[in-house]
Amino acid sequence: MSQSSQARDPRSTDSLAELNAELGALSLADRLRRAATFGRAVFTTSLGLEDQVLTDAIAESGAEISVVTLETGRLFPETVALIAETRARYGIDLEEVRPLSPDIDAFVARYGLNGFYESVEARHACCDVRKMRPLTRALEGAQVWITGIRRGQSQNRAQTPFAEFDPVRNVLKINPLADYDLESLQALVVEKNIPVNPLHRRGYPSIGCEPCTRAIKPGEPERAGRWWWENDEKRECGLHVLPAPSEIPSAGHPV
Ligand code: SF4
Repeated sequence: MSQSSQARDPRSTDSLAELNAELGALSLADRLRRAATFGRAVFTTSLGLEDQVLTDAIAESGAEISVVTLETGRLFPETVALIAETRARYGIDLEEVRPLSPDIDAFVARYGLNGFYESVEARHACCDVRKMRPLTRALEGAQVWITGIRRGQSQNRAQTPFAEFDPVRNVLKINPLADYDLESLQALVVEKNIPVNPLHRRGYPSIGCEPCTRAIKPGEPERAGRWWWENDEKRECGLHVLPAPSEIPSAGHPV
């Protein structure tokens, strides 16, 4: 960790404002290198187009960042194949973090394997055991969480900063692609021959679990195919949603 990052508490509002301004002026590789100066950094990838660009940039930048994916057990076969292809292409230890069998068994016993179609509560319960709890384990011991979310992905993400503090997971969350648009990322994929999910070409700009993702129609928002049967325009799996301040537990490891 650099001396300057040790001297500052990146959770403070002033420091976050400074860090956001600093990151905004840097190249993608330098944003990643800067993120890694704050301690152990973990990038969680869903193998989507944004995340593949980030994996490529991490490999090229030499930044010390662990690459982890949440293998929910309900991924598309194309996504599973891309995990292996990405490991081979970049020679990285792309770790898979899976849900725990007792958690899955309890969910299935209560709601049924595909019970997430029946209610928002059941859907959140499934995302909790297959994504949220594995995410907590993936971030154990990390000071920095790197994600591929962008402002242009949805209205819900329109205010995404480059850096924010996640008080639930007690990590500095860095979103190095916050200001990128889809077209410039697609151009990077072509220019650098970055391996991407073939489903993107079949109308899936955003890819999650197979039973919860459909192709979008022309003109629909990028994330319209995720949990399409739900009415809430702001639907998310919870990974990138912060609770109200009153719901945030205190204490944890300092960043
Ligand atoms: Fe379960 Fe669907 Fe959430 Fe995947 S996206 S964890 S299958 S509810």
